[in-house]
Parts: sequence; structure tokens; C-alpha cells
Amino acid sequence: MFDADGKRYLDFIGGIATVSVGHANPRVRVALMEQANLIWHASNLYVTEPQVRLAELLTAQSKSLKRAFFCNSGTEANEAMIKLARHFHVVQGHEQRIEIVCMHDSFHGRTLGALAATGQPKYQQGFGPLPEGFRFIDYGDTGQLEAAVSEKTCAVLVEPVQGEAGVTPAPAGFLEKARELCTRTGTLLLFDEVQTGMGRTGRFFACEHFALEPDALTLAKGIAGGLPLGALLAREEIAQAFTPGTHASTFGGNPVTTAAASAVVDMLDGGLLDEVRAMGEHLAGRLRSLPGTSRRVAGERGLGLLRAVLLSEDVAPKAVAAARERGLLVNSIGERVLRLAPPLTVSAREVDEAVRILSDAITAA
Ligand SMILES: *Cc1c(COP(=O)(O)O)cnc(C)c1O
Repeated sequence: MFDADGKRYLDFIGGIATVSVGHANPRVRVALMEQANLIWHASNLYVTEPQVRLAELLTAQSKSLKRAFFCNSGTEANEAMIKLARHFHVVQGHEQRIEIVCMHDSFHGRTLGALAATGQPKYQQGFGPLPEGFRFIDYGDTGQLEAAVSEKTCAVLVEPVQGEAGVTPAPAGFLEKARELCTRTGTLLLFDEVQTGMGRTGRFFACEHFALEPDALTLAKGIAGGLPLGALLAREEIAQAFTPGTHASTFGGNPVTTAAASAVVDMLDGGLLDEVRAMGEHLAGRLRSLPGTSRRVAGERGLGLLRAVLLSEDVAPKAVAAARERGLLVNSIGERVLRLAPPLTVSAREVDEAVRILSDAITAA
């Protein structure tokens, strides 16, 4: 990336994990330009070829998630997922099942429903009253999970890796336990993969790392290479709760953004996922060497190309500014976490350069 003065940057935050295959990626550019020459909007009154193609590509990625709904952002996808989960139980005649079990420190978006599901009071304060029926447990606590699920429970909503909490992967066994409990009790298991989906973690969906599938999941951020698009995928029998008119989005499934997204999926299916795993390991290895060169670095964590550097002093915002001065873009979460989400097309040479700059920046901060 180059700024207004022509200064060069290595972008290791990629529009917050949205510019998933790099700025001005030629395949995405060709796909969206070709589509713009045909038709760039038709509304949800009509079906267009690009949205059908993308739906086919996305639903081919899992065993059970065979229906897709398109919208424009992560928060809108989560609203759709929450509405679908509640409506599913209503259609089944279980109107008392309205409660959604959510996680502390989670992030699901800024509209009121997704905000009510977000376990970070700092985002909620000053916007009440929020919708009711959301209760919270500690991320990874199977005992609390079991205690929270009752005959009133509609769904369990969880991120396989909590991105906005500082790139925290689910503790071992937690998602497996959630899957088992939900199946046994008829509770829907909902995954927010807005940040972790679309190859970011080295698998198409992060849930593949845990060898299980939710009943529905949401995508956005990297789905269309940086264009605004969100998606909800769900199992057929759950998706049936939405009939025409039950839920909708006027811009949803826009031909240009869905054409761009199909180009991204084609790249992932065409071998890019292997590259993400290799580069994720390379980046993790480089980051693991940082504590040896700086006493300010306590460690690193993450999955694939979604990674965090953990600091032992409150200098994360200063380190971000120092890195930017030196031509590297990353972002901070709180005072002690640096988040890295480079394009999935990143090279080993770029990783090495970025980690070198980051090391200098942390020392200078
Ligand atoms: C970014 C994010 C959202 C919100 O997406 P928007 O497109 O900003 O509405 C929701 N969930 C997770 C996990 C996210 O990372």
C-alpha cells in the first residue's frame, strides 16, 4: 500500500482481515469489472447468476451447511442468524426457546441484536435498552455451558477463535462439548466465522480444525476480497424456517460483490489454502523468536494467518504507531496485544520483512 505521499507500507492488517487476497488482486479485479459490465444490481426480487454461483461454491465447502443467505456485513449476517435460530424454534412450535447463550469477550457486531450478543460491555454502554434473551458464560468453560443450557435455550453462539478479544482460540474440548450438548438438547450451535472463515485460519472454515460443524455459521470480512458482503450458511432443515418475505436484505447478494467473492473462493480451492497453512506456520515461527530479542514480547498465538503478538508491557498502541512510521500496518487490541491478519497471498519474504520491522517497532515503542 502507498499513502498520499508515496510512502510504502506492508499491510499486515488488510483492512481488518477483509482484503483477503491483497490489494488490487488481479483475479478479483477482473471478476468485478466483468460483472460491472453486465449488471451491478438487481435487488432481492430477482435471482442473479453470480449469487447462485457463490451459493454453490460456499455450500460445497461443508457436509451439512447447504443453504446460503447473502447480506452486506458481519453484523447483518449475525442478525440473520439470530433471527433464523429463533424463528426455527417458533416454526417447530417451541416459542419458549428464545434464549441465546453467548460468550464473555465475544464480538458479533454493532447493530442492536448482534450488540446484545457481544460480551464486551464497553461496546454496549450508552445504547440501551438492548434486545432481551442473551446470557453470557466464560469462553471455554464447559461447566458454565452445561449449566446455562435449559429448555428455554434457543442457541449457543460462539466464535471458534475470538478475534476481537485478542485472537483467542477456543480452549481444547470446548467446541466439541458444545456440539454434543446442542445435539442432545435440540439447541442450535451457531458459529460466528466473520473473522475466521474464508481461509483465514488455513482451513476454509475454522470449525474444520475441530472436526465438527455448527448448525449455521456467518461469514463476512474476507469473503469478497475487501468488498462489502456477508453470508449466513445453514443446514437445510433450519433454513426452511425462512420462507420468502420472512427475512431479506435489499442489497444482499449484489452481483458485483458476489462475483468478487467467487473469485476469492476459486483461489482458495485452487491451492491457496495450502499456502495459508504454510505461511501461517512460517509467521508463527518468526513470531515465536521475538521474545528472544525483546523482553517486551511475552509470546504469540493464533491459527493460520490470524495471529497475535502478546506484550508484557502496555505499549501495544505505541508499537502500532512505531510500526506504521517504519512502513508496517498492524493493529492493537487493548494495551498488550498486536493483531496480524496479512493477506492470504503473503510471501515468506514479506513475512520476514514485517517481523523485522515489528521487532524494531516494539523496541522503539
Ligand atoms: C468484524 C466482526 C463482526 C462484525 O462485522 P461487520 O462487518 O463490522 O459488521 C462480527 N463478528 C466478528 C467475529 C467480527 O470479527
